[in-house]
Amino acid sequence: MSANLLDGKAVARAIRGEVALGVEALRRRAAATPKLVAVLVGDDPASAVYVRNKIAACAEVGIRSEEARLPASATQQQVQSLVARLNADPDVDGILVQLPLPSGLDRIPVLLSIDPLKDVDGLHPTNAGRTMMRVDAPAPCTPAGVIEILDRSGLPIAGQRAVIIGRSEIVGRPLSILLLHRDATVTVCHSKTPDLASVTRQADILIAAMGRPAFVRGEQIRPGAVVIDVGINRVDDLERVAEIFGPGSPRLQAARERGYALIGDVHPVEAAQRAAYLTPVPGGIGPLTIACLLRNTLRAAEKRRTPAPLRTG
Ligand code: NDP
Repeated sequence: MSANLLDGKAVARAIRGEVALGVEALRRRAAATPKLVAVLVGDDPASAVYVRNKIAACAEVGIRSEEARLPASATQQQVQSLVARLNADPDVDGILVQLPLPSGLDRIPVLLSIDPLKDVDGLHPTNAGRTMMRVDAPAPCTPAGVIEILDRSGLPIAGQRAVIIGRSEIVGRPLSILLLHRDATVTVCHSKTPDLASVTRQADILIAAMGRPAFVRGEQIRPGAVVIDVGINRVDDLERVAEIFGPGSPRLQAARERGYALIGDVHPVEAAQRAAYLTPVPGGIGPLTIACLLRNTLRAAEKRRTPAPLRTG
């Protein structure tokens, strides 16, 4: 069996197209253009790249965006004061605080300080609670992206056994709620789950979100399953890359040229032989996370800038 690859880039492109139309409609209706501010604290290179990609994606759909940067030496108070200023700024529709924060800073009070109406990551407890209660709220972007790729690929969720590996507050936990709302039978695994393979082999839909490169091996996957690989791991060890993709593979060649490879949490070669559908890394859930962030920003702007009766979505 060779799995069908689910094209996250194409699905993300479709969502971005819808967002661009929504941005244009809002401009005509309310003479307003949504604005996102990304707060970046410190100089973690991966976080800087993520923020840059989000800013570039905003420009593509007509959303205004700005990076608000603080040094790694910033205090908890300084970060929260910045968030408070953005909360109070009527021109700002969405605030995202890029995680992780530098060591010494506590993300929880920062996330709690974001105005729930501007919380485009959907991580504020008000929005997490509303999502739990199935009341209109921005869903966290990566879990929303997983649902989108399943839906838009015509893959059923209702009645399916879904197994998630990982219970983080940004991926695994909220995703379990979204899948439950869609009538999947959901199991959430974590580092203390005994005999992980016996659980994962029961999955019709297996979602890996653990941050361990190529951890999920072929024998852990039920033949014919849908495998969603959320993981994005930078692997610099080219011998490890060769082990995963095999000597002479184009992926190894590309990694040699770049000095590293981006590898998901699922073994891509073994999974392709067992699964019916598989999301690639890169080009799977990553682009969808950004597309769902743009959609949340548009929706936040619609809520804030148009009278309720005219609001769509
Ligand atoms: P976290 O580190 O916050 O959580 C990892 C989870 O995986 C934890 O619940 C942990 O269990 C579990 N876990 C770790 N090792 C094992 C193991 N051996 N067996 C079973 N469970 C295990 O990670 P995130 O959720 O933030 O991210 C997960 C992955 O997704 C990363 O690769 C990250 O880069 C990627 N990611 C991708 C995004 C995208 O846009 N595609 C967006 C966000 C993340 P425990 O709770 O017991 O410690």
